[in-house]
Amino acid sequence: MSAPRPPVSLPDGAQRLLLHSCCAPCSGEVMEALLAAGIDYTIFFYNPNIHPVKEYELRKDENVRFADKHGVPFVDADYDTDNWFARARGMENEPERGIRCTMCFDMRFERTALYAHEHGFAAISSSLGISRWKNMEQINDCGHRAAARYPGLSYWDYNWRKGGGSQRMVEISKRERFYQQEYCGCVYSLRDTNRQRKAQGRGRIKIGLVYYGDEAAAPAPADRTDPADT
Ligand code: SF4
Repeated sequence: MSAPRPPVSLPDGAQRLLLHSCCAPCSGEVMEALLAAGIDYTIFFYNPNIHPVKEYELRKDENVRFADKHGVPFVDADYDTDNWFARARGMENEPERGIRCTMCFDMRFERTALYAHEHGFAAISSSLGISRWKNMEQINDCGHRAAARYPGLSYWDYNWRKGGGSQRMVEISKRERFYQQEYCGCVYSLRDTNRQRKAQGRGRIKIGLVYYGDEAAAPAPADRTDPADT
């Protein structure tokens, strides 16, 4: 069992939160923590990095399902992949956590901040930082940079991993039998993960195959099983 969840509260007296969500597994614990605290929030799903569209729909549908279950408003934002690929040009071979990922976080947070500004949210945050595969400082820098575009808007850089958050993330994913993505999200991360698997003598990723709690379908221990890989 994980530790009791510490109470959370919005910064700077904000009354409503716009939560950028990358996927259901990452946002499950964040959503439940916000609900437990009675915080008024809306999910903002803007992830044009996810490739191919089948994977995008799977990740989004899982998030919609969980939001519906809890009656949380869900904004299904654009899937403007042309813009994402335009911004990623020249970064195709950058490693994960490098400048392509900074661009990817910037792009998603810029749109989140714009929507927050236009719809009266005083705070934004994201489920991205809960993943141990991510560089939290890199994510927070991008979040603060996006929020700074609008007066009165702040980025809430709460560390969702602490206080047992990482463990609860996995517990909730298994309980809800969320779809389990096996790569970060973009076509380049899919390519690189498949290369790693090939080097390990393993088959290519099959989209739509693995769900939390389904032991028969679970990947080998060496695989990247953290759910927060978008
Ligand atoms: S590896 Fe992940 S964070 Fe980095 S650019 Fe690709 S989808 Fe975005």
